[in-house]
Amino acid sequence: MKSYQVSPDGFYGKFGGAFVPDSLRLCVEDLQKRYLQIMNDPAFKSYYYEWLVKYVGRPTPLYLSEKLSRKYGCKIYLKREDLNHTGAHKINNALGQALLAQKLGKKRIIAETGAGQHGVAVATVCALLEMECKIFMGKTDIERQRVNVEKMKLLGAEIISVESGTQTLQEAVDEALNYWSSHYEDTFYLIGSAVGPHPYPDMVAKFQSVISEELEDQLLELEGRNYPDYLIACVGGGSNAAGTVYQYVDNENVKIVLAEAGGKGIGSGKSAATLHIGKEGLIHGYKTIVLQDEQGNVQDPYSISAGLDYPGIGPLHAHLADTGRASIVAVNDDEAIDAALELVRFDGIIPALESSHALGALPKMQFRPDDVVVLTLSGRGDKDIEVYLNHK
Ligand SMILES: *Cc1c(COP(=O)(O)O)cnc(C)c1O
Repeated sequence: MKSYQVSPDGFYGKFGGAFVPDSLRLCVEDLQKRYLQIMNDPAFKSYYYEWLVKYVGRPTPLYLSEKLSRKYGCKIYLKREDLNHTGAHKINNALGQALLAQKLGKKRIIAETGAGQHGVAVATVCALLEMECKIFMGKTDIERQRVNVEKMKLLGAEIISVESGTQTLQEAVDEALNYWSSHYEDTFYLIGSAVGPHPYPDMVAKFQSVISEELEDQLLELEGRNYPDYLIACVGGGSNAAGTVYQYVDNENVKIVLAEAGGKGIGSGKSAATLHIGKEGLIHGYKTIVLQDEQGNVQDPYSISAGLDYPGIGPLHAHLADTGRASIVAVNDDEAIDAALELVRFDGIIPALESSHALGALPKMQFRPDDVVVLTLSGRGDKDIEVYLNHK
């Protein structure tokens, strides 16, 4: 039987692992040794879930869209991660890792952020748990994302402006890692997606797996069976998708569809469709498929959606694609926007641009009338209103 589970050393097939310089080896190995012991502890699990209920607002609804169902000829449910506190799934993971950091005795959380969404989730949980918070962010991104920067400051986070290189996410990651290697005794590095060196992809997938745990109960109640025929989610680094498929990867009755950002088109040179046009390589401490040029240099990804604009992809997802377990659909900017405007019209829900890429997969698929489809609506579109208005 094929296995989609992570190996003890952090591999999904040939992808994953922990490829870090010596300066970071201690930090990563310490976490590898301790994360499962804490996460598998029933007391920690129920403590975490208690916070998800009373603070984040879980469980999130599983909402049947009658109009989408009619149009696409099947039953389409939306898993409403947009209704979480702070408006997306990212808080599930930020809260989980912050609680884990407390168990490890760390007093300071660091994180890097590009568009600022992850930074806001981290600053939020640090305010809640009274932890010191430093957010590394490229100077260019700070200028582009004023509202999120102000939210983080209001929440008490310190913003560290990174002014080297292109002054964006890549350099912010380097600076955060640097800081971690010299402060690891009291500092926890909180990664926002199912990426990075082992154990991060597994840890993030496990914290997000609350999504598919809830789906099992909700589907059993609504459909009389605890699994759907299709799961659809968008993939940037892969955390909302990992949480959506987590309980179902070994159930071959469930088809998995991952939507990546096609940008202006996969052949246009302006795309973030890593699994369509990337090649095997190393990025951010793990092996995966990477957008790269002939020489193997990481290429700048492009997507209208800041959350999908990442040149790698989580190792689990690379493996699901490689083994044929998941089908991968590239959804271009304009297709995502059309799909978002359709949901606004049909259901009065304004989805995040990222989530709109999952919606944009629907017209590319063929369903049977009795198919049960679950699509994860990873976040709400308050931050994207201007883009939608300009395209209407
Ligand atoms: C960050 C973000 C994503 C992409 O991240 P994943 O780790 O791939 O889930 C998707 N949707 C929303 C709303 C986001 O904020």
